[in-house]
Amino acid sequence: MSKERNEDMRKTILAGNWKMNQTSSMVHAELQSLLQQLPAVQAEIIVAPSFLYITQAIQLTKESPIHIAAQTMHWEEKGAFTGEVSPTMLADVNVTHVILGHSERRMYSNETNETVHKKVQAALAHQLTPIICCGETLEEREKGQMESVISTQIQCALSGVRENEIKQCVIAYEPVWAIGTGKTATPEQAQEVCAFIRSLIVAMYTKEQSEEVSILYGGSMNATNVSQLLKQPDIDGGLIGGASLRAEDFLAIIKQVP
Ligand code: PEP
Repeated sequence: MSKERNEDMRKTILAGNWKMNQTSSMVHAELQSLLQQLPAVQAEIIVAPSFLYITQAIQLTKESPIHIAAQTMHWEEKGAFTGEVSPTMLADVNVTHVILGHSERRMYSNETNETVHKKVQAALAHQLTPIICCGETLEEREKGQMESVISTQIQCALSGVRENEIKQCVIAYEPVWAIGTGKTATPEQAQEVCAFIRSLIVAMYTKEQSEEVSILYGGSMNATNVSQLLKQPDIDGGLIGGASLRAEDFLAIIKQVP
């Protein structure tokens, strides 16, 4: 598939995952810098601050092209779930996207394929765009298990997603060995897995529908490697951790959207 077709069919998305990093004054300063210098590019720009600063970020970015995402959520609408945040609450404050199944949530907070599935359903029911993360560990890659790990993650996450909803989903391929390590997958490695993910979507839906789903790469993406990654036909953007924390670094990536 040519890049031209890719651009016609689906959005380029650059999403900054700020994890547990910024304080209120930093959220303010980095978003102000982003807003002041944001170039006019054909890409959807998303920032995911901590829950604590989501309303502050929404206030600062309203009437701007920047979308605000949550880094996770619970699947229930409300109830006795101490410490959790519901899809109803996120929609209530105008959050548009939610990152689900990030490998750090899978590693440290008991996120499983089953909870990701429930959260995808809840996100779609509340008109939140799920950014569904998948990716293999180094050990799984070395044992030749990459395809089985990714297919299980994708099939579970998308089970129950209806034909008219698949277009609303975003997938992020994030090899665990590349997250926060400075080791980026090569453009060819990332393309191979993103194409494999698209083939899984073809098998569950149709070829046409698979071509409408944006698939992002994540794992030490930065201003040096973004351009080669975005040239790959099945890579439609990036989920960016470390290199999105400072507006200057995130802008250097955004400016390279073709
Ligand atoms: C991430 O956490 O989603 C991520 C890709 O992090 P980094 O860019 O720092 O590897």
